[in-house]
Amino acid sequence: MTISTAPLPRRRAVAVKVGGVTVGGDAPVVVQSMTNTDTADIDATVRQVADLARAGSELVRITVDRDESAAAVPKIRERLDRLGLDVPLIGDFHYIGHKLLADHPACAEALAKYRINPGNVGFKAKRDLQFGAIIETAIRNDRPVRIGVNWGSLDQELLTHLMDENQAAGFPQTAAEVMREAIVRSALLSAERAEEIGLPRSKIILSAKVSAVQELIAVYAELARRSDHALHLGLTEAGMGTKGIVASSAAMGILLQQGIGDTVRVSLTPEPGGDRTREVQVAQELLQVMGFRAFLPVVAACPGCGRTTSTVFQELARKIQDQIRDEMPVWRTRYPGVEALKVAVMGCIVNGPGESKHADIGISLPGTGETPSAPVYIDGEKAVTLRGPAIAEDFRALVLDYIEK
Ligand code: SF4
Repeated sequence: MTISTAPLPRRRAVAVKVGGVTVGGDAPVVVQSMTNTDTADIDATVRQVADLARAGSELVRITVDRDESAAAVPKIRERLDRLGLDVPLIGDFHYIGHKLLADHPACAEALAKYRINPGNVGFKAKRDLQFGAIIETAIRNDRPVRIGVNWGSLDQELLTHLMDENQAAGFPQTAAEVMREAIVRSALLSAERAEEIGLPRSKIILSAKVSAVQELIAVYAELARRSDHALHLGLTEAGMGTKGIVASSAAMGILLQQGIGDTVRVSLTPEPGGDRTREVQVAQELLQVMGFRAFLPVVAACPGCGRTTSTVFQELARKIQDQIRDEMPVWRTRYPGVEALKVAVMGCIVNGPGESKHADIGISLPGTGETPSAPVYIDGEKAVTLRGPAIAEDFRALVLDYIEK
């Protein structure tokens, strides 16, 4: 059996412009994130959007849940522009989006995209009217819309209808299959309705988020099979800490490998006082380790074992990684292509020289019982051997020197 390690060709999705960023078509998979500030708190929201944008979020979504937050949106946009940050803002609307957009035309104008959830756009008779009003605002302002279905707020009428159909047919589908179909159908029917109203396909992005990994993969595979809309990937309620990271990476990694997904958001429950930019970092690292995009130089470091005499190599790997992350905003403009750099920090001669030779610049630190010297390899060749107490500082200087050159 031959196992292919290459990703499947990217699914061809209709390109959608969100401000100056293209989602779908030939564009690389876009990283996005969402604030958790009260949007009416202009200072806090500007600060967090700026942090997310500087960390590399190419689109940022903000909650627009009431008049005060809708009124704040144009001011937030203005403040970001003054900071030289042109990151497109996406408004997240639930329940009263139609009203907020109608009552706050400057908000509708300042946002680069509207996200609506067909499951909570309105009840029964009002649903079509309110959905239509949002779509018409998008058409008037020439803005794209994300139709974002979420299984926690699924259109209950549609679900009940599909369950009744299933029952009438003698239960050919399991409850999970009916649920999956309801999620996919809710997204597709809403997109169809938006197109009927006059929103072109090049202004529609779809998402269908669930919180279970296998379900998410199945739902998106089906959505990808039945439409050519650009797709926003995200595992909803992914969870805290390592669980959230692992679950999001597993689900989205498999979909991206199948060529599915045009923009990703990693939703992590923040630790108290935690840094919101973590979700941007994880999304970037996911795309980078899979070989789809390069955002930051990669630091390969061995895990260490009984052969390592000290934590010097772990500290060095950490320092190099942190320095790269901190300096990246400046490096990105100063040294084009620096994001493709590979640095190796290895703990001993077992794998040190080999791994270091595969990196652009690598160091093999002395393990237990080895001569206290650390050969450095540059472009695959042994360049210099570092000795003494300042090995870490000397190596960092060599890395900077390599980047400069
Ligand atoms: Fe252990 Fe050396 Fe391998 Fe690092 S390179 S894990 S120190 S054997």
